Amino acid sequence: MRKSLDRSRLAALASREQAAYIQARPVSQATHTRAAQSLLGGVPMPWMARWPTPFPIYLQRAAGAEVLDLDGIRYADFCLGDSAAMAGHGPAAVQAAIAAQAGLGIATLLPSGSDELAATELARRFGLPYWQFALSATDANRFVLRLARELTGRSKVLVFAHCYHGTVDDTIATLVDGRTAARPDSLGPPIDPALTTKVVEFNDLAAVRQALADGDVACVLTEPALTNIGIVLPDPGFHDELRRLTRAASTLLIIDETHTWSAGAGGYTAAHGLEPDVITIGKAIGGGVPAAAYGLSAELAQRLETPTMVDGIPRTKGVGGTLAGNALSLAAVRATLYEVLTAEAFDKMTALAGRFADGVRSVLSDHQVPWQVSQLGCRVEYQFGSEVARSGAQAAAIADRELDRFLHLYLINRGVLMTPFHSMALMCPATTPEQVDRHTVAFADALSELFG
Ligand code: PMP
Repeated sequence: MRKSLDRSRLAALASREQAAYIQARPVSQATHTRAAQSLLGGVPMPWMARWPTPFPIYLQRAAGAEVLDLDGIRYADFCLGDSAAMAGHGPAAVQAAIAAQAGLGIATLLPSGSDELAATELARRFGLPYWQFALSATDANRFVLRLARELTGRSKVLVFAHCYHGTVDDTIATLVDGRTAARPDSLGPPIDPALTTKVVEFNDLAAVRQALADGDVACVLTEPALTNIGIVLPDPGFHDELRRLTRAASTLLIIDETHTWSAGAGGYTAAHGLEPDVITIGKAIGGGVPAAAYGLSAELAQRLETPTMVDGIPRTKGVGGTLAGNALSLAAVRATLYEVLTAEAFDKMTALAGRFADGVRSVLSDHQVPWQVSQLGCRVEYQFGSEVARSGAQAAAIADRELDRFLHLYLINRGVLMTPFHSMALMCPATTPEQVDRHTVAFADALSELFG
């Protein structure tokens, strides 16, 4: 018999956990009160206030797969900076590379050599020959949308509902009654996103076909599997047909590997033989240092040569930036690719993610709770529905904010950090089996308390 969730028990347990959190963290609480006098919400960036805790965990130090807070509490870190630290916190090779580069020039507006090495390795892994660098995945996505519009002369971008590609205006859109609209949580949308964007549900190939039929879509921008509304995997054959449809419509296909890099050394693209025109990737590639990249097919690189030069003058406005491709970031990317997030590291991380997923599945089966567990290489997610979500809408429908916040807080109080916005766990090269098992035990305890 399946257990059902008792909401009043959940509320009582959540209050108990909040009190325990506050009681154990007097230094963080005092820091929060002080910081709130000069920082909005006591944090330097709004997402840092979105943890399910009464006040944020204030960082003392992070090393490898562990975070230490100002109260001296240690956490097994499965959030890893929402993937920015998939290489682990401060891997030795990255520390050495940035220390060396800091003495050789940081921001010079000159190529530094690490860029070429990084591009060669990205090309080898992801299969696209030409690369450029940016400071964030948001920027990489913004730049390639510009290139796609320039090359196709078309105005629209197609994205999937509940996607996330950074703070890119064109992509902060959703479906309301079958029409493109601003997301309800979108702050100050510059214009009606229906003017720039078409939104359809993931795995809905008929809707893609229809959206492309007007001939006004410059590009499809998608993660190969959605990862920002839980994990939503592509149906078998989805990517083949998406590629066929985009080619037939002369629409460019941009694959955002920022999160799905977890699938292996060459991301989901290499693991599943995808053939995108463009790849974007950010977060972890700099080993925690701000860096991102985009790769282009040979054909696109050739097509770009003409429009980027007009009367002998290069047209570069709208892409790039003074700090993009800087020598420090690129030294960190080079070290991350060659010395940290290697194919061997991915093998180890993926095996640990398997251990994590097996642990969660065994607890769910012991408690007869029918939640879903998905794994994308070294990334694992649990979702609260009894069916696998095939679209963003289905994944959104099974989300349970109250339950999610409770579980995160419960785990935090037992020294386990999960990604705050959903129940995602990521492994890095320094993650240990003991840390994985710590999560399994705490998760089992949470379910025992919730379901008896
Ligand atoms: N692409 C994807 C798939 C992401 O998940 C994110 C951030 N969660 C971004 C791009 C943007 O990354 P950043 O905030 O580092 O620019």
